[in-house]
Amino acid sequence: MSDFIVQTKNLIKSYGKHNALDSLNMNVKEGFVYGLLGKNGAGKTTTLRMIMSLLKPTNGSIDVMGYEPTKMPIKQRQNIGYASDSMQLIPWLKVGEILNYNGSFYDTWDKEYVKQWADRLGLSLDKRVFQLSRGNRQKLGLIMAIGHRPKLVVLDEPAGGLDPIARKEFLESIIELIHELGTTIILSSHALSDLERISDYIGIIDQGKMQVEMSLEDLKSSTRQIKIVSKNKLENISFEDTLKLNSTEHLITGIFKNWDDDKSKKIIQKFPNATVEIQNLNLEEIFLAYAGK
Ligand code: ATP
Repeated sequence: MSDFIVQTKNLIKSYGKHNALDSLNMNVKEGFVYGLLGKNGAGKTTTLRMIMSLLKPTNGSIDVMGYEPTKMPIKQRQNIGYASDSMQLIPWLKVGEILNYNGSFYDTWDKEYVKQWADRLGLSLDKRVFQLSRGNRQKLGLIMAIGHRPKLVVLDEPAGGLDPIARKEFLESIIELIHELGTTIILSSHALSDLERISDYIGIIDQGKMQVEMSLEDLKSSTRQIKIVSKNKLENISFEDTLKLNSTEHLITGIFKNWDDDKSKKIIQKFPNATVEIQNLNLEEIFLAYAGK
């Protein structure tokens, strides 16, 4: 088995002539939280569904815990949990009944743990699915994904329907808890501040390709916004690793990747008569720079 619990190599998924995934390379280390980001239609759900063997690749390879997902033995599948917004639940069953039914597929289903989570999230076991709000249905889906204490949890936009308090409670406590057990979590979300709070690694997909994949810490320390202001006309120079650049005679602003202290020194030396500001960015600003490229 490789160092990665999930790894894709040149993964392609085509729908007719359209490549939803276009040679996607993804590497997920065991025991960490991996946040998958991308604009609408970037390929996040397609990727997660392939990890779950709900879709077959057109080309390329995918490895999940040492197996090609469609060939993974049932026993091994029990080590994975999955929740997505599009999950269909039988509407007339009670929450408790759905959880018991779901649990019957897993040797390791932990009823006490499940009950604790339902209590913690304020989800009544006696309510019927059709009576649940979207957020409460999502909470149910999430409990179904973790009740068997899986090694790998795949969550597709898990907190979209949760109110801010439930989202904070759910995301932080679940991630903390699962993290303590050494579970790997892959989650896609458009809630970038949530992802910034909980992710160890970040992958940004655009048009089916991985634009950048690294630890959140490295991503934040290697992406910088630079502003150069001068009363004199600024020299026209070319920049490496540009994500965004705007320049006029007296003002240059840009966002750059692969930044380091050496580049900071060089740029200050290059413009001795200008004011050079070098700023850190948050995950949302970094994402906008990569995805809006
Ligand atoms: P969102 O953030 O909106 O959920 P996403 O990143 O999850 O988007 P996907 O759902 O993976 O994006 O879709 C990737 C691309 O594949 C899109 O261009 C989408 O239109 C296309 N696609 C997905 N499923 C199908 C399908 N069954 N038939 C044809 N095209 C599809």
